[in-house]
Amino acid sequence: MNQHFHALRVTDVIVETEDARSLVFDVPDDLAEEFRYRPGQFLTVHIPGAEHGSVTRCYSLSSSPHTADSLTVTVKRTPAGHGSDRLLGSVRVGSVVHVQPPTGRFTPASLDGDFLFLAAGSGITPVMSIIKSALAAGSGRLALIYANRDERSVIFGEQLAGLAAAHPDRLTVRHWLESRQGLPDAAGLRALAAPFRDRDAYVCGPGPFVAGVVDALAALGVPRERTHLEQFRPPNRTAFPDPPPGGDPSARTPRSVNGLQLVLP
Ligand SMILES: Cc1cc2nc3c(=O)[nH]c(=O)nc-3n(C[C@H](O)[C@H](O)[C@H](O)COP(=O)(O)OP(=O)(O)OC[C@H]3O[C@@H](n4cnc5c(N)ncnc54)[C@H](O)[C@@H]3O)c2cc1C
Repeated sequence: MNQHFHALRVTDVIVETEDARSLVFDVPDDLAEEFRYRPGQFLTVHIPGAEHGSVTRCYSLSSSPHTADSLTVTVKRTPAGHGSDRLLGSVRVGSVVHVQPPTGRFTPASLDGDFLFLAAGSGITPVMSIIKSALAAGSGRLALIYANRDERSVIFGEQLAGLAAAHPDRLTVRHWLESRQGLPDAAGLRALAAPFRDRDAYVCGPGPFVAGVVDALAALGVPRERTHLEQFRPPNRTAFPDPPPGGDPSARTPRSVNGLQLVLP
């Protein structure tokens, strides 16, 4: 096991949607400093697998370091995925999970600005952390455009509605449901984002969504340096365990980390 992984105990497993769970970790006092984080950062999780080898996967923190939250990641099951399915299938309250300390640059330098967030699916995870943090410790106005397949797949829907109700002058949430509106396209995203074009934009989701948002923001004249991207792209080919090659022991060790992060200069 890589020496930078630490064993953390899971204290809660929260059912968010049919295929998404939040895993809440206990951070012992002697690791508190190492696990300090900024909103928007992620953990790298080692997911052991006896039959097909181990993998590592990145999961953004959905908790806020500015509230009473415990360290939490939110994982959405990827059909036929090597890691997420195994992780969600095996983790229980009391399980020990090996994780690397938080890292990542998808985090605002200051929480005091006005922000526009655009998230799709599990891309809400780091955005949720930033929104809760900005509401608790910042002073600006926040707008979220949040795309999902349908109502049942909306992660944190109730929490977001609660936050918007508690901060009506600071948080605006606009949902885009594919079941009603079709796939989010650049023209639709442009129309939703237009009132907030003067703000720093934080964008997180799968590749095609992020690409559509980049086009929409560029068309609105949002400068590249004010557009911050986190892409939940699948790991590169080497992150997949090979089929067991006749007992090759290397197939049973972590292969690589998919910490692919996209931040525009
Ligand atoms: C910085 C960062 C933060 C992230 N945060 C989150 C988060 O908060 N929540 C979350 O749910 N996810 C997050 N992700 C995504 C997460 O890391 C995983 O990529 C995701 O869970 C899928 O992993 P998996 O092992 O289940 O699927 P994988 O096994 O990696 O499969 C992913 C896709 O690749 C395909 N595939 C499978 N095998 C192969 C192969 N041999 N060659 C090519 N393609 C193949 C699969 O069909 C599937 O569509 C984040 C990613 C990054 C980079």
